[in-house]
Amino acid sequence: MKQIYFDNNATTPVAPEVFDAMLPYLTEYYGNPSSMHTFGGQLHKKVEEARFKVAELIGAEPEEIIFTSCGTESDNTALMNAVEVSGGKRHIVTTRVEHPAVMNFAKHLARKSYRSTFLPVDSLGSLDMQAFAKALDDDTAIVSIMYANNETGVIFPIAAMGAILRERGIIFHSDAVQAAGKIPINVKELPVDMLSLSGHKIHASKGIGALYVRKGTRFYPYVIGGHQERGRRAGTENVASIIGLGKACELAKGDIKNESKYLSGLRDKLEKALLKNCPDARINGDIQNRLPNTTNISFEYIEGEAILLRLDEQGVCASSGSACSSGSLEPSHVLRAMGVPFNLIHGSIRFSLSRYNTEAEVDKVIDIMPALIKDLRALSPFGKQK
Ligand code: PLP
Repeated sequence: MKQIYFDNNATTPVAPEVFDAMLPYLTEYYGNPSSMHTFGGQLHKKVEEARFKVAELIGAEPEEIIFTSCGTESDNTALMNAVEVSGGKRHIVTTRVEHPAVMNFAKHLARKSYRSTFLPVDSLGSLDMQAFAKALDDDTAIVSIMYANNETGVIFPIAAMGAILRERGIIFHSDAVQAAGKIPINVKELPVDMLSLSGHKIHASKGIGALYVRKGTRFYPYVIGGHQERGRRAGTENVASIIGLGKACELAKGDIKNESKYLSGLRDKLEKALLKNCPDARINGDIQNRLPNTTNISFEYIEGEAILLRLDEQGVCASSGSACSSGSLEPSHVLRAMGVPFNLIHGSIRFSLSRYNTEAEVDKVIDIMPALIKDLRALSPFGKQK
């Protein structure tokens, strides 16, 4: 049975072009870019070419890009940096819907005598701008707010928030792990100081990420050791993955507009059919302001896990909540923050698409879902049976 993979916000397949670009640097050219000999030293140029491509995806300068091991490391580094360089300020502002890479690091800092504010969102998952402005004070070291949410796809008003923060001289970080490569980002026009990216969400390999740090932003390294990354992130470079990330960014930038249109077309077809053919279903999140590849749908009176298992039996991969929190039956913190009722949170499914998904795959899921939902409702312990 061929898998239908609709879980691309959890991770994506490595693009064939990325794999081809990486392979020689795992087998033939396995040197260390810091070595004096030509065999290793020649790789330095390749790493710099990749840095250029990553920078291009977001309109940055190459020297503003630091390679990291993943999106989580980029996020942790951004927060840690801000509290290191902001002259004793101890307040962190973030939201209640962040990925754990930011949320749990902000909680960690709060246990170490820092102060963390977690901003609320409304029922559509959008930020309350009044609460945002009110939360800032003279002790605020950093505001860290995601570009787009991994569970709902909802996009945040980064430009508007950045303008306020720039005026107040507060460091602004955005976790763009889900947004980069899916929607255009141009840091030349965007008042952010730091931005996180992750390779495996955009068809590069796992274990590679990047942190954009605007020129002029004070920076203190989080991973301390050797001189790599101009002293900003120690550790021998993951050369093959860096080259792969460069290729993935080049591919993403190449066709971002058409790809976005293609993905939203598939997503909308899927969503429309599911809402029409499955009673008591509703979309979670602001449908006017979302990533093109993501839909989060609640099916009342059934457990999301039961839907996932049935889909899995038919070769369809989706997700309930974020992949990082699956495995626990904790209801999604994102949907909870949006005030989604518990029965709808438990019945929520996220479908997230990529350029490798086809209309035939969408049609297959449209075909199987209504009977699957009806069947599960007939077995439902939640009272109302459809
Ligand atoms: N931030 C967001 C919004 C994410 O969706 C993820 C992964 O799901 C991360 C950060 C963590 O990225 P990584 O898996 O590369 O550590």
